[in-house]
Amino acid sequence: MEINTALILDDEPDLNEFLADVFKELGIDDVIQLTKSTDLFESYSPKIDLITIDLFMPDVDGVEILRYLGEAKSEAFIVLMSGHSQSVLASAERVAKAYGLNVLGTLSKPFSIAQIANLIAQAGKMTKKANKTEKKEFTFSKEDILDAIQKKQVVLYYQPQINLKTKEIVGFEALVRWLHPDLGIIFPDQFLPFVSKYNVLGELTKHLLNEACSFFGDLIKKGINKRVSVNVSVFDLVDTSMPEDIIQLMQQHSLMSNQIIIELIETGKLEGYPKALEILTRLCMKGIGLSIDDFGTGFSSLDQLSKAPFTELKIDKGFVFDLLKNPNTKSIIGSTVHLAEKLNMEVVAEGIENKETRNLLKELGVHIGQGYYFSVPLPASGVMGFIENFHYAD
Ligand code: C2E
Ligand code: CA
Ligand code: CA
Repeated sequence: MEINTALILDDEPDLNEFLADVFKELGIDDVIQLTKSTDLFESYSPKIDLITIDLFMPDVDGVEILRYLGEAKSEAFIVLMSGHSQSVLASAERVAKAYGLNVLGTLSKPFSIAQIANLIAQAGKMTKKANKTEKKEFTFSKEDILDAIQKKQVVLYYQPQINLKTKEIVGFEALVRWLHPDLGIIFPDQFLPFVSKYNVLGELTKHLLNEACSFFGDLIKKGINKRVSVNVSVFDLVDTSMPEDIIQLMQQHSLMSNQIIIELIETGKLEGYPKALEILTRLCMKGIGLSIDDFGTGFSSLDQLSKAPFTELKIDKGFVFDLLKNPNTKSIIGSTVHLAEKLNMEVVAEGIENKETRNLLKELGVHIGQGYYFSVPLPASGVMGFIENFHYAD
């Protein structure tokens, strides 16, 4: 496995420079040097073959970076570095492995050129193995779930949405994560089924709406006006006070009604739920955006469009993944955009993983793009850094 691109994350400029020199000496052409860990959120790309991480960084520490790389399913070789105790290095290595990362080795500072060269030579003999953090199956009790919500272990990550025409960040989709103290990061499909089973989805949604409004309210105080899209299941629409509750939350945090979008999942079940329809209509009357999620999949298709007052349509990532390979998909997306425009709806495409896809979607008239190409979902602590550093690469 040849290493062509390396990324160095170290806040000590001298050491950063030293590593870059060594890498260039070793024949690595492309070396990205970062001294601020939040810059990684912007600079990360799956093309990077090797990442060296200083564990102790002033803004976001190395362990959080590992979680980020795990979430991005990074296949890069990882080298962990620290001037502190060996035991911290060893435990960080375990964390990295738990996230499915390819740990090449650890280095205690100070280290020699020979030690680095050795590691790189080792990488040369290895093949990168795909990050197969097979999503484990868990079982949770109702108490586990309620306890996690109460202890604020259930949090939102935010994935940027970019206007493909103006090239600006329009907002973020809020995606739930359970940061479990023992099990690590737990993804929605691993725990939401239990939340539904125990009938506590309503409680969770309330908690998440609160978190999203409070976070975006804080951003407004910093002079940043972005919208946030929150996922809500049709099964969640049972409490007719929901529209008023949301409005109250938004007023409390000084958010405008157009700053919140409800992404509706499982719209296939809308039929036979008059209460859900009532809630959607009242949300719409209050100026809150309604997005039909996973458009084009079994759950949500053309006939759903007429069922509720949607303002946005979100093309499922399955189509987006397929776009460059399949001319039929191109036609489907093209006509979907056409239809949406006739209905005065905006079109968002999720799952954009590369520039070619982004460009083709833009050509097809898709308004807003989202996907790993721009950024993986970010913890709240990474959002400001992303906003400050975002640059739309033509
Ligand atoms: P979704 O609404 O379709 O969300 C998009 C999913 O695609 C997210 O997975 C996101 O991390 C992932 N994704 C984004 N960009 C890319 C990309 O470029 N490539 C690939 N391969 N994947 C990408 P996640 O966060 O695991 O969420 C899964 C599903 O769980 C969501 O699908 C949504 O239906 C549900 N969900 C997430 N958060 C919430 C929530 O707060 N409440 C409810 N009720 N459901 C939620
Ligand atoms: Ca969604
Ligand atoms: Ca989807």
